[in-house]
Amino acid sequence: MKQKKENRRMTSIARKINRLWVWKRFASYICLDVMIVLMVITCWCVAGEISFFGSFHLLGPHRSFEMQGGIESIFYIVSQRGGETLRLNSGLFFVMLRTCAIITGVVQMISLIHSIRFDARLIRHQLHPLNELAKKAEELSSIAFDESKFQQLEDAISHVHPENEDEHLHISDKDLMGISVAVNNLMDRMRESYRQQSRFVSDASHELRTPISVIQGYVNMLDRWGKEDETVLTEAIEALKHESEHMSRLVEQLLFLARSDSGRNRMTIEEVSLTALMEEVFEESKMIDEGHVYQMKTEEPNDVTVMGDATMLKQTMRILADNAAKYTKQGDEIIFSVGASEEAFFSVQDTGTGMGESDVIHVFERFYRSDEARSSKSGGTGLGLSIAKWIVDKHKGHFDILSRKDLGTRITVYLPTKK
Ligand code: ATP
Ligand code: MG
Repeated sequence: MKQKKENRRMTSIARKINRLWVWKRFASYICLDVMIVLMVITCWCVAGEISFFGSFHLLGPHRSFEMQGGIESIFYIVSQRGGETLRLNSGLFFVMLRTCAIITGVVQMISLIHSIRFDARLIRHQLHPLNELAKKAEELSSIAFDESKFQQLEDAISHVHPENEDEHLHISDKDLMGISVAVNNLMDRMRESYRQQSRFVSDASHELRTPISVIQGYVNMLDRWGKEDETVLTEAIEALKHESEHMSRLVEQLLFLARSDSGRNRMTIEEVSLTALMEEVFEESKMIDEGHVYQMKTEEPNDVTVMGDATMLKQTMRILADNAAKYTKQGDEIIFSVGASEEAFFSVQDTGTGMGESDVIHVFERFYRSDEARSSKSGGTGLGLSIAKWIVDKHKGHFDILSRKDLGTRITVYLPTKK
């Protein structure tokens, strides 16, 4: 019912606007037509005078029209003072002028009638957004400010305990329903973020506990038997070195992720050559790892550049190179590639252990390691790719992972090209 009334109101407004517009057009057609007719008659008269007298003088001659019956017998008469008189039969000219005026008038009338019939609908359509706005404003102004409702909302919010996992805000009032849904969603998001944080802290402490226990074990062993026994001493020193290196790397990674979570990881964006960075990582890898055969493939163009943070992009390349070396058996090939088509890219490909689909979907999760990786002696923490993902996301890039169990893996990073 209300909708029908609203539709009728809109139609009547649109019609009013259309009527006004049609009147304006009608008036302008009349003015324009009269002006054109006057101009055509003047030109015709001037042309007639010039062809008869050889020249045209505005002042001096006496001019008049003479009509001896119908429009066909109109004469244009020009008499020069003390000279010749021009008597021009204008019948045919006026008949033609009348025909043209009638045709123009009919066309203009048809266009006005068309506007009267159809343009109101068009105006209604164009007024639609304005009408919606007016309706919203009306709705808003019709919401009565009811203080007791807000009191009820305040009470409900202050009685919620966000630390209880399943507790939510319950408000039965229809007007406040939207607010309660928004507050509940916010609480859920905060709980999820809190859950993630505490999982991270507990995983981090768990990971740190292992090297600490190993260090403690060896220190105790040294204390009891190692002082005099050369073999125990060498083994303990080796293990302590290894564990402290592992711990220091873990702490570095944790600090990086903690800084990125709190938005304290600053990036220096500049023009960076991916080709040059990849070549540096390639040389480094060849030097520190003689157990694998490294290859570098540079695709077109010769120098791929992007806007980014050079240190972080290099860190990403090192993470990929480190994984390829860690999960590929000695003597096998590892291929680094750089190129650009629509996007710039770099990739590291190996012929190592590879991963199943169920592993690939988790590799960016913090502390995730596949069962094979855990059981191998590679000794990672499961943070490398989480760090790489953060860096690539910050560069508005994305990953592509192609991996088959026992065949190998290729991880490609795509980055937007420099505009
Ligand atoms: P670290 O933090 O020391 O790098 P990590 O290598 O175990 O430890 P990520 O680099 O995050 O951790 O990799 C996560 C997991 O993804 C690895 O444990 C491994 O299971 C799998 N993975 C990553 N790269 C490869 C690869 N090239 N081949 C096979 N598995 C891989
Ligand atoms: Mg790794």
